[in-house]
Amino acid sequence: MNFYYNRTKIVATMGPASAKKDVLIAMIQAGLNVCRLNFSHGKPEDHKKVVDIIREINAEYKTNVSILADLQGPKIRIGLVKDGGINLINGTRINITTNECIGDDNQIYITYPTFPQDVQANEIILLDDGKLQLKVIDTNRKDTVVCEVVHGGILTSRKGVNLPNTKVSIPSLTEDDLYNLQFALEWDLDWIGLSFVRTGQDIIDLKRIIRESGKSARVIAKVEKPEAIENIDDIIAATDGVMIARGDLGVEMPLEEVPLLQKMIARKCRDAAKPVIVATQMLESMITTPRPTRAEVNDVANSVLDGADAVMLSGETSVGEFPVIVIETMAKIVRNVEDLGYPFNAKKSENLDPAHPNFLSDNLCGSAVYLAEHTNAAGIVSMTTSGYTAFEISSYRPKAGTYIFTSNKQLLNALSLVWGVRAFYYDQLESTDQTITDVNEILKQEGHIRTGDVVINTAAVPISKQGKTNMLRVSVVE
Ligand code: PEP
Repeated sequence: MNFYYNRTKIVATMGPASAKKDVLIAMIQAGLNVCRLNFSHGKPEDHKKVVDIIREINAEYKTNVSILADLQGPKIRIGLVKDGGINLINGTRINITTNECIGDDNQIYITYPTFPQDVQANEIILLDDGKLQLKVIDTNRKDTVVCEVVHGGILTSRKGVNLPNTKVSIPSLTEDDLYNLQFALEWDLDWIGLSFVRTGQDIIDLKRIIRESGKSARVIAKVEKPEAIENIDDIIAATDGVMIARGDLGVEMPLEEVPLLQKMIARKCRDAAKPVIVATQMLESMITTPRPTRAEVNDVANSVLDGADAVMLSGETSVGEFPVIVIETMAKIVRNVEDLGYPFNAKKSENLDPAHPNFLSDNLCGSAVYLAEHTNAAGIVSMTTSGYTAFEISSYRPKAGTYIFTSNKQLLNALSLVWGVRAFYYDQLESTDQTITDVNEILKQEGHIRTGDVVINTAAVPISKQGKTNMLRVSVVE
């Protein structure tokens, strides 16, 4: 079976439209690399079914589809509403209550127990990605906040709430998150996304829990709050990857600032060799129509040009009518930009700090990419156990294919999120010469490189010790 491989990776949110084996196989063939389980919706047992299907496909088709568990974080939502939707009319009053109830024209439930204590009169409440707006009139500081509808419309169950003016006191990892995290860790998922990250410490706390559980899941910081923008350097330093979660970011921040924030975050992530996902409304109209708008096509193409490691689909693949066509469309847009050639916004800054623990290996990775460019190499072929070399080489956005060999099984799938990287399992680490001969031969047999191609190999020598990358070899494939 043929699979399409983009360099810019595609993340798709799972849901009733896509969580079926035949649909998923077609999506993976079309270019899907990472499946996102949105723990804001669904029960753990439903997510587990999807995990099992993905693992079955990976085993049957020798694919490395990665799984990202997206934790809700301190996301605030309204509760269920009657008849599936209520009509909020401009100028009318509605109560927001912390007592669980089915919402109606009179009151709606909010999942934020201390909201009446934290909120002030005149603050703005945005519902459903900012489509509806309320203004706080009064609070009884106990369980009820009286609001006026400023921009009304139909409000359906469990929609998100954003409070751009309120100092929200909910912890970064809620009880729900800790509950869901246990499943994500038990199932050995590759990436854990945390929503509404505010500081680097939020990430450090999550990583400590992962480490203490003995697991090696990597963390994605979802950047969607003004505090995250203020603390972006600390967050990037602490995390393994970033998601530019434009849905909430565009509600919590002035919308017009989002395009330049996207470019700023993407640049910083690349300089730090941390993968960055651009998310939300990329092909939104394809939830109900088989062709995207011209503006959406531009958005995907420009995100590739901004240097995103991955572009993400949400409702388009979770509940949309065309989960396979949307992946085909996204892959075509990505491919058309990629056909222009490289690099797009590759990392510019080199590691010039001899005291840095990765000073030598960072410079070796940069040199491998430089050498590949100048020798028109077909591939950069690297051995890595931790994955560090893969992230570092990818950040230079090499024109040559980036082929990563590892004996670390979990890394194989995790690397599916990283720009340009193709990962292979290899565990015969007896001698450097033998390993290089073997991995080059595997790539030749699979048709990635051919006789006469220049190949750059990197490894940590001695190869059995699994140290830091310190060896660079250039050769012509026999
Ligand atoms: C977003 O806000 O853009 C986002 C990706 O988060 P979620 O889908 O969890 O709201």
